[in-house]
Amino acid sequence: MAEQKRDYYEVLGVEKSASEDEIKKAYRKLAKKYHPDMNPGDKEAEAKFKEASEAYAVLSDSEKRAKYDQFGHAAFDGSGGFGAGGFDFTGADFSDIFGDLFGGMFGGGRSRGASNGPMKGANIRTSVRITFLEAVFGTEKDLTMNLKDPCPTCNGTGAKPGTSPQMCPKCGGKGQVVFTQQSFFGTVRNVQTCPDCGGSGKIIKDKCTDCGGTGYITSRKTINVSIPAGIDNGQSVRIREKGEPGINGGPRGDLLVEVIVSPHETFERDGIDIFSMVRISYPIAALGGSVMIDTVDGRIVYDVKAGTQTGTQIRFRNKGVPSLRNKDIRGNHYVTLVVEVPTKLSKEAKEVLRKFDELTGDSLTAVERAGNKDNKDGESEKKDHKEKKKHFWEK
Ligand SMILES: [Zn+2]
Ligand SMILES: [Zn+2]
Repeated sequence: MAEQKRDYYEVLGVEKSASEDEIKKAYRKLAKKYHPDMNPGDKEAEAKFKEASEAYAVLSDSEKRAKYDQFGHAAFDGSGGFGAGGFDFTGADFSDIFGDLFGGMFGGGRSRGASNGPMKGANIRTSVRITFLEAVFGTEKDLTMNLKDPCPTCNGTGAKPGTSPQMCPKCGGKGQVVFTQQSFFGTVRNVQTCPDCGGSGKIIKDKCTDCGGTGYITSRKTINVSIPAGIDNGQSVRIREKGEPGINGGPRGDLLVEVIVSPHETFERDGIDIFSMVRISYPIAALGGSVMIDTVDGRIVYDVKAGTQTGTQIRFRNKGVPSLRNKDIRGNHYVTLVVEVPTKLSKEAKEVLRKFDELTGDSLTAVERAGNKDNKDGESEKKDHKEKKKHFWEK
């Protein structure tokens, strides 16, 4: 029973007289647009991709195309090639299409022959802990780590000196093998890194004894890392060509050093601005006076204005963190002044404070004067509040 199927030429958007090249071009366009890798989770795109792939598998094969031209979809019903197992794609060379379509996009692994050419080595990631002030002003750190280098005995070939690696018989030196695979739209030809040679295209019979045939030796190395002023927690410094060695003469990968900044006991940071809190005494807040304020540039003597309220924020321009992007720009340092309430007072100090209160508005006796001295409700409310609080803590 033939289901309702669109005409293959219509699917690809080409004329019945289209040349092989036109068909290939049309399919490439559709495949690129609807490929599942480009449309993750999109069922409609997947269906379109299957449809186009099926059309291409038939129309790109002159024998199948002739049959299709003569009999239409009926040519492939029953035992004609596509049974219950799905469409048979083995006739069409998809690896060719996908090789140059996606090879560049998804790394060298898929594109033909790329694994044989020079390839950049893998990046190495590590981290380093620095202090708050080191992050603000920049620093240098020595990192000691194990790094691979090409083995000097065999020059990185992995073969015993005097011998040389042989061409891999499995892949014929290509480093890749073509295999067929069942996928969501049937059987496809695919290209994979050769399992025998790992993609190098070479097999080593007499291994170099110094590196065990790997071509690399690992040694402990110290690398100086220059950490720029203004770096923030979680940002990375890239050191070019200090990663894994390249393959087939390619450049080394990079070393990526993530910076972890320890918190500071006084300063906090938000972007390029620094924040801190400074406690001032009640007399200084009320009368004004000098206080010492710590900044990343050192101590500053600051004159607190008379009548300063608690929570007042003051700004020190350009005492923040230098911008990573533009060294001429520095953030600000914002200091919040918090008026401290004394918790331990001598008898004498209490006396003076009562005297002070008498002189400045009698706040201590205001309730008494208003005649609310015996307000029991207030008392019990207070108790309830305490109990609730206690309960909360016990929980
Ligand atoms: Zn070696
Ligand atoms: Zn191989």
